[in-house]
Amino acid sequence: VTDYVFSLINSFPSPPTVSALVDGDTGRRISSSQLISRTESLASSLRRELGLRKGDAAYILAPNSVNIPILYLSLLSLGVVLSPANPASSEREILHQLQLSKPRIAFATSAVAHKIPPTIKIVLLDSLEFESLAAETRSGESEPRTSVSQSDPAAILYSSGTTGATKGVILTHRNFTYTVALGHAVRTARKTPAVVLATVPFFHVYGFVFAVRAVALGETLVSMERVEMRKMLKAIEDHRITHVAAAPPLVVAMVKADRKVVDGYDLSSLEVVACGGAPLGRDVAAQLTARFPGVSLVQAYGLTESTGRVFSTVGPTESKVGGATGKLTPETEAKIVDPETGIPLPPGKAGEIWVRGPSIMKGYVGDEEATARTLDAEGWLKTGDLCYIDDEGFLFVVDRIKELIKCRGYQVAPSELEHLLVSHPDILEAAVVPLPDERAGQVPIAFVVRQNGSTISELQVKEYIAKQVAPYKRLHRVLFTESLPKNAQGKLLRKDLTRLAMSPAKL
Ligand code: ATP
Repeated sequence: VTDYVFSLINSFPSPPTVSALVDGDTGRRISSSQLISRTESLASSLRRELGLRKGDAAYILAPNSVNIPILYLSLLSLGVVLSPANPASSEREILHQLQLSKPRIAFATSAVAHKIPPTIKIVLLDSLEFESLAAETRSGESEPRTSVSQSDPAAILYSSGTTGATKGVILTHRNFTYTVALGHAVRTARKTPAVVLATVPFFHVYGFVFAVRAVALGETLVSMERVEMRKMLKAIEDHRITHVAAAPPLVVAMVKADRKVVDGYDLSSLEVVACGGAPLGRDVAAQLTARFPGVSLVQAYGLTESTGRVFSTVGPTESKVGGATGKLTPETEAKIVDPETGIPLPPGKAGEIWVRGPSIMKGYVGDEEATARTLDAEGWLKTGDLCYIDDEGFLFVVDRIKELIKCRGYQVAPSELEHLLVSHPDILEAAVVPLPDERAGQVPIAFVVRQNGSTISELQVKEYIAKQVAPYKRLHRVLFTESLPKNAQGKLLRKDLTRLAMSPAKL
């Protein structure tokens, strides 16, 4: 991966005024040549001082920073398998992740390092002198390159654990080089390099790919430790950001933001907001463009198991198809099948989506059973997502099969009701989960966050939905709450709300 990234940087040299990396919090800038020399000298000191070798795994627990892409590229150049995790993980979750990836070493910031058991050697990222690394490279002392093959593992990424226990997804060098190449095809049409802001975490596949791709394409990658909306708006103004990579909650917050807040910033540089990794309301793309003229929404659908996007919208026309997450990426195949039998269904019919191609994972680390359940003998990845593809090839994600609500023999997709709920001007956010019911089996109930100052009642919400859906989809309860549980990718943690709904004392 590192060789491929460096060859791209060298073949499309950016003007010297363009920085490869910018620390959005401090303004510190790193050029492409500094990025390359720091990566190379970090790699050689990791090899010399820590004895890191091809095939070793390195666990990484840190928030986003400009040093993370340098660390990733250094480790990848040594053939070390990266294993970055969410720094907010609990000690129990960390233990589970370590049991999966069995790392030889861990890199962590001091704020979170104490959560890693002392049985593993820890390198504190705060004391790694990234700044002085370039000076350390001694001329004439060329390090032998580690050669890796395309099928060698490059990373073990942890799936979000939205529906079950987190799994360690093995992604290969081929998976990443293909994914970087995909972005290459789209972005080289620009006259000046894009300035991209990562609001998504680098430990998740979305942020991971975004970071490496931006650097490879000679773009400027702006990273910040924690990004909420005002911080993002300020960064767009300060750094003349052209592209923002975001998870759905931030995009929804942009659309629903107070006009007075948004108008206080110069956002004229912004061209594209990229969103993926979790469902986004049907009308959000149109609302975003109406609110921020000239800005288009690029949507993507993918999984950790597919190195991120396998469907995406690339042009303004594609972005305009409400609710669609775009078209299939090149070299990848997809089919919609009956989840019970695996038999393909005709266009327009909803079923489980299976995908196959160069970005599909090698398997789950240490779990042959789960690998065999998810990857079939012909290389198809069974995604567990209920989707349909229309006549023109646009993908529509209905919901996760595991999270469908079974009501009186019908299946209710919680996301359909959630989209309807947030289309109400008084509702900021909503989550729909099943409640066990003696007669119906399960019934849908909603957790709702009201817009500031709204006094909308349970009855009004129920009536709003009842007018728009078949009787079996009507909400049986509406519970108002201040916020909804979400993971770092902005994915609703419906399983936590289902647990809450199951404890009658809370309802
Ligand atoms: P786990 O498998 O551990 O439960 P997870 O599936 O949430 O975790 P990820 O790989 O982060 O882990 O998420 C992939 C899932 O995210 C997809 O299977 C799909 O359900 C959802 N998803 C991704 N992109 C979109 C999108 N554009 N629209 C709707 N859902 C999406």
